[in-house]
Formats: sequence, C-alpha cells, structure tokens
Amino acid sequence: MKSVCVLGNGQLGRMLRQAGEPLGIDVYPVGLDLDPATIPYQNSIITAEIERCPDTPFTQILAQHQAFINRDVFPIIADRLTQKQLFDRLHLPTAAWRILEHADIWPTLFNQLSNLLIVKSRVGGYDGRGQWRVTADCVEQVPLEAYQSCIVEQAINFDGEMSLIGARNRQGKMVFYPLTHNFHQAGILKMSVAQPDVDATLQRQAQTMLSTIMTELDYIGVMAMECFAVGDKLLINELAPRVHNSGHWTQNGASISQFELHLRAILDLPLPSPDVFSTSVMVNLIGTPYHQDWLSEPLVHLHWYNKEVRAGRKVGHLNLTHQDHERLSHSLSTLRTMLPSDYLSAIEWAQEKLL
Ligand code: ATP
Ligand code: MG
Ligand code: MG
Repeated sequence: MKSVCVLGNGQLGRMLRQAGEPLGIDVYPVGLDLDPATIPYQNSIITAEIERCPDTPFTQILAQHQAFINRDVFPIIADRLTQKQLFDRLHLPTAAWRILEHADIWPTLFNQLSNLLIVKSRVGGYDGRGQWRVTADCVEQVPLEAYQSCIVEQAINFDGEMSLIGARNRQGKMVFYPLTHNFHQAGILKMSVAQPDVDATLQRQAQTMLSTIMTELDYIGVMAMECFAVGDKLLINELAPRVHNSGHWTQNGASISQFELHLRAILDLPLPSPDVFSTSVMVNLIGTPYHQDWLSEPLVHLHWYNKEVRAGRKVGHLNLTHQDHERLSHSLSTLRTMLPSDYLSAIEWAQEKLL
C-alpha cells in the first residue's frame, strides 16, 4: 500500500492519519518543521489539508511532486476571485459579488448588490477572518489594503447554512453524504447536525452542483461545498478542496468517515457510498480547555487535537450519534453545563433540528 503525505499538520492531517491506521495506510502530515529524510515522500501520494501550504524547501518539493493529487485545483479554490469565476462559468448560483476595486465604487455596490455587504479577502481567510460586514455608514472600517485584494458580496438573509461533502475518484465515480446543517457564530462553525432523511430536493440540487464542480476540475478526493439555503434554493458560499469541519460527524455517524473516504479516493481503493444510519451532532470545541466531564456523557465521542488552547481556536470536537433524537437532545442539555455560556444558542438551534 502506498503511503500518503499531507501538506499541513493541523487537526485535519492528524485525523487523516488516524483514519489511515486501521486500513494499514501510513499517513504523514507535513508541517514546517519536518525533516524530509524521515518520510518516504518519493513513493507517496501527496494530498493537502489546507488550500495554501506553508512555504518551505520541503513543501516546495512536495508541491511539485508528480503524485500531488489536485495540484492545479488548489490555486483556483484558494483565491475567492477565481473560485467565484468558476461558479459563474458553470452557471452555479452564489450571492451576487464584485471585485472591490476602489473606494469610489461603494455607492454602486450598495445600489446593485444590497445595503449590507460582506468584504472578503481573496486569499488566506478562514473562520471568518479577513472579512468585514459593511453598510453605507461604516465603509471606513475597510482597510486601504482591502482595495484590489478583496471581493465583496451581497449579504444573504438565509434560512440556514448547509454543506455537502462528497468524493470523486479517478474514474469519475462520485459519492456523497447527506447535507449537513451548520450553525456559525461570529463567522466560525460552532455546531453541525446531520440526518439520514434529508430533504430530497435540496440533496439533489446540492449533489448536482458539487458533481458539476468536481467533474469540471477533474477533482480526486473529498470536497466540501458550503451553501446558504434560501427557501428551497441553495446558493454556494464557498468550496474547500479537502476534508471539512462540517464533515467531522462522519467519524462516528457514517459507515465510512470523510477522512477514510478521502484516502480511498486518492489511493484508488473501492469507493462505495457511505451508509448513514442515524442522526449526528457535532459540537466544535473553540478556545475551551479540556473538560474531563464531557466523557461522563455516554453518547459523547471526544476528538481532542492536542493543541494549545487559545481564544477562538478550534481545539477539538464532540460527536454524538443516535437514532433516538430525544437521547441526543438530552445529551446536549447535559453538555450545556459543561460548555461556556456562548454555546447556548447553538445548543438550542441543534435541539430544534432534533424535534
Ligand atoms: P471557513 O472557516 O468556513 O473557511 P471563511 O472564513 O472562509 O470560513 P465564509 O465561509 O466565507 O468564511 O464565511 C463565514 C460565515 O460568515 C458563513 O458561514 C456565514 O455564516 C457568514 N457569511 C459569509 N458570507 C455571507 C453572505 N454573503 N451572506 C450572509 N452570511 C455570510
Ligand atoms: Mg473558507
Ligand atoms: Mg466557510
């Protein structure tokens, strides 16, 4: 079995490594500090856990490696401008957007798009960083360097946020999980709920959109598509050419996790459609110190990343899976007392989904 090198050594690389273990696949997450002599990269398949990887002599070797899967796709998705242009070219629905060229175009933008706009850095933003929510009376908050380096989009008054995670192999076979409902707070994913009996119309719509994208890019592996749901229509927010936070529930709520699915796809292993047998809830642990009591709740699967705890930083997640929604809801009520008070709205949101 070929080994896999992952560009980036954060939690996604760590969970890819964990998923490879039972299958006998050696996965080596590669950070800035790794000595190339310690891993068999010449003979490995190369993948990435981030769109833009740290620039070191070793990651440069890997980025030029013949077996770097999706090498040419990363730059397209890493830049919000080329990503949006891709959607437009494929006639896929998104929030209306423009390039933020200079300060004179604000009146036109408010006029053409909406009176609430979201400015987003073209590259490097994540967890809502590098974004400004702008109305006509507060355009000064947008820093000078944003002009020419950002796009601006219409704020969508969505009914909910959802993501679709799918995978495609070299032969063009594609498989998908059910749409996941996501709750964000201050631009960062706080909680996800996934259910096997998802709305068929939305699921079909989402699968058609993601299939179109993966096929166009001749993409191999797991890709995530974040959407806004407005009525019975989906608008694409953004893509992630990798395993994704909103798919973490698949570790405990699907017959094949997104991490294993990615390894299967890039290693040309069988790629059946993952079976999702019950409802799952994923709670992101953001800036929260390790709390042993989480483990007293029998439904909780704790995934702790062993990172230094800092405010706003994702340091772990809890997965809860059960077919009995009352049990799930009860577990969430118990967790309320073991999580900071700002989790209350996310917990209530999830409990409503479970009714
Ligand atoms: P991620 O960590 O998912 O990569 P990001 O920093 O790339 O996040 P986005 O996904 O673009 O940022 O936005 C973060 C969140 O901000 C969205 O999930 C949504 O809640 C809100 N948001 C972004 N764009 C819009 C929009 N056009 N209209 C309404 N809300 C938006
Ligand atoms: Mg993003
Ligand atoms: Mg996002």
